[in-house]
Amino acid sequence: MARVGVLALQGDFPMHEKRLRELGCQVKQVRVPNDLDGLEALIWPGGESTTMTRIMSDELRSALKEFCQTHPVWGTCAGMIMLSQTDPDPRVKTLGIANVHVNRNGWGRQVHSFEGELRVIPELEEKKPCIGMFIRAPRISSMGKDVLTLAWFRDEAVAVAQGNILLTTFHPELTGDDRFHRLFLSWILEPNKNRIVSTGDRN
Ligand code: GLN
Repeated sequence: MARVGVLALQGDFPMHEKRLRELGCQVKQVRVPNDLDGLEALIWPGGESTTMTRIMSDELRSALKEFCQTHPVWGTCAGMIMLSQTDPDPRVKTLGIANVHVNRNGWGRQVHSFEGELRVIPELEEKKPCIGMFIRAPRISSMGKDVLTLAWFRDEAVAVAQGNILLTTFHPELTGDDRFHRLFLSWILEPNKNRIVSTGDRN
């Protein structure tokens, strides 16, 4: 049984926990550095990156940085922002681990939240369409050559991977479609190896 942590500082952690439990994982909420002990992977949920910045201790920040070097980590929405880089803003101090730059509220404000059908790489294709739920979602403005695109909305990358790091600008935990959770859990079997082989044709 996979032991997976869900960062539970703030935001949408209960739904990620639910999805992981449905998939048979042992789930632990992470609030302090010791909570990371014994975990095989971590999800950093969506919420509000300014609030996360405010309430995260320096100890937790360094422990998370260290954990991300050696384990699969998945950031959704605000979680993705915190793992990436963003325009200078004193209210948001990201970990900057991923070679991805985001515009934090690039799709507009809360009223501009929306759902849309995504195009996904073959490894993520299933019979039913893949719907992305975007809630004040970040928008990727640039990314490094070592970052692979796993899903697109229109022609824009909205799910990407870099080594052990998975980043989604949308909220897969809210749609009842667990294909991204299953993909992420498959990474636990082979940490430090990017299992995605196909990048699609518009990376
Ligand atoms: N735009 C929010 C932020 O800057 C993220 C929104 C979300 O996680 N749904 O943190």
